[in-house]
Order: sequence, then C-alpha cells, then structure tokens
Amino acid sequence: MSFEGKVIFESLSLVVVFVVFEFGDFVVGLERVFDVIRDRRARTVGLQFPDGLMRYAVPISRLVKDLSRVEVLLSGSSCFGACDVDLRLLASVDVLFHFAHAPMKRVKSLDSRVVFVEVSSSLPVLPVVKSAVGLFSGSVSRVGVVTTVQHLHTLGEVCRVLESSGFDPVVGVGDGCIAHPGQVLGCNFSAVAPDCDEYLFLGSGRFHPIGVAIARRERVVAADPYTGRAFVVDPEPFIRRRCGVVARALDAESFGIIVSSKLGQERLSLARELLGLVEEHGKRGVIMVVDVVKPDQFLGLGFDALVSTACPRIALDDIESFRVPVLTPVELEIALGLRSWEDFRLDEITCGR
Ligand code: SF4
Repeated sequence: MSFEGKVIFESLSLVVVFVVFEFGDFVVGLERVFDVIRDRRARTVGLQFPDGLMRYAVPISRLVKDLSRVEVLLSGSSCFGACDVDLRLLASVDVLFHFAHAPMKRVKSLDSRVVFVEVSSSLPVLPVVKSAVGLFSGSVSRVGVVTTVQHLHTLGEVCRVLESSGFDPVVGVGDGCIAHPGQVLGCNFSAVAPDCDEYLFLGSGRFHPIGVAIARRERVVAADPYTGRAFVVDPEPFIRRRCGVVARALDAESFGIIVSSKLGQERLSLARELLGLVEEHGKRGVIMVVDVVKPDQFLGLGFDALVSTACPRIALDDIESFRVPVLTPVELEIALGLRSWEDFRLDEITCGR
C-alpha cells in the first residue's frame, strides 16, 4: 500500500495537493469517498469490495474511519459486480460505498445512498497494445476497442497507438447497463461498436474477448496487461463446449429455472417466459429464486437441467461444478428447437438508456 502525494498546482496564495491512493496495482478513488462523507455528513458508512480487492479492505476501512471519523461497516457478502449491492448492509448505513465497479442503471436508480467508487489499474498498457497491433489482419482499417472498467482510463492512449499505426479506432457507447464508452461486462457487450473490421480487447482472461468475438462475429485480438501477452482469440472451443452442454439437456424433462434476487441480475419476467416455453414443449419447470447460486442448492431436487437467468457467467464458468447441464436462456431456446446454432450468442443482461 502506498500513498503518493503530488503537488499539481502551486501559486503564492494557493497550494493544491493531489493525493493518489494506490494499493498494489490499483488506484482507488478514495477522495470521492471522503468528499461524499463530508458533503452528506454521514456518520455510518458501509464498504463493499469484490474478492480481488478484499486484501485491501481492512487498511482502506481503517483509513476511512481514521480520516473521516465515521463508523465503518465492512460487507462480507458477495460482490460479483455492480449488479450485486449489499442491500442488507445498505439498510444500516448512511452511505454504502461499492468499490471497483462502474454504476449500472438498474442499480444506480435504487437509492442515492449507494455510491460507486471506481478503481483503476496502474499497470502500463502500451507495451502489450503495441504487441497486439502486429496481430491485426493486413486489410483491417476500423478497429473496435473495448476494455473492462479498470483500464478505461487508458482508452485514449490505446486509440492513439492504433491511429499512429494506421488504424481507425472506434469506441462504442453501450446501453444503460454500461457507464462508460468502450466498457464491456461479462453480461453486456453493447459497447462493442458494430461495423468494425476487427476488434481489440484490453484486459485479462479469455471470457470477455470470446464474448466480443461471438457478439460481433469478427476477429478479436486480446491484449493482456497482466501477462504482457497479445493473442488472437479463438471462440470455437468455447462454442463446442456449449454445444456439448446443450446436447446433454436435449432429453431433459424437468427444468429448474434460476432467478437471482440480486438487484442487477434479477430477471423474473424472463424466467416466467422460459417456464412458459418449457411447458409448451410438454416438459416441467419450476422457478427458483436464490441469492448466490451454488451447485449444492439443486442437489436432490430432481431437475434434469437448469436454466440460469442470473449472471450469465454462472452457466458458462461453473459447468464442472454442477451435476446437471446448466443452460443460458439462449441455449434453452436451442435445446427446444426454437433457435439455430447459427444464431447462438451469449446471454446478456441489457438495460435501455
Ligand atoms: S451479472 Fe455477472 S457479468 Fe454482469 S455485472 Fe454482474 S457479475 Fe458481472
């Protein structure tokens, strides 16, 4: 943990000190936390961190308590994304600070006491972006650029690298679930600009770039600042795995349809539609409402397959943990013969602007 104090403006009468709150590879927007506490005269505040930041939760809690002289309650509940606000903690605090996720419209409108505190990565991105540039096809002109929330502040420099290499970078604007141009979520690819020749994804892991490739059916180059690797994404193994999961559900007679009670994931009306489809096809279904989806919850309930309307990544990331196939809503339509594989896409939680 380090705090870097920088004098950014100085004159005879005025000194402005800009403090950067840096924890490991992350810059945390704590100045916003202090401003909100002061402006709202908060006395009790809640702090909610995702797993990746939990190791800094205690020092940040102490810092907020000591500098603002407020009572701090730290959330120990899940924090998978902006979709997942700790509503129980919210009931006990004046302000709930939710770290590391950009606001989502369906959650933001809930209560002005929920304040999203964005956290950015301090890792340099230009070396890996320069490596990625060499992986685009020769004929490419328009390159769609997307990233995850912690690298958004680098999009300007990323676009300049692309321009200086002769490309025309395009940053799309997403729907109401997406707070910033060029931002992608595991459940929302609406900010992936249409009509580009190829795409650049900046960030870690394979899920998001695969999602971009499936959403736009174009070639995607991924640049990972954590590993320093740039590579071309191949979505085919992922799609083949999903074909296998759907195939295992073809003979299912009984479906458990999962609805999350988390504010940003709750899709009860979609679950009702899916239940209607299941029953129209002579099968049985039950809607189950859960908070955190865990494989054990469904043991012994007799379902042949599950359909998740909760976070789309549950069906896609955790397949090994479930004893029965877990489908997305799109995949249920394929299993019931209502959609073809050519029309396969990832499940997305969308929000109108
Ligand atoms: S629904 Fe899933 S992918 Fe979407 S924001 Fe929440 S945790 Fe992330």
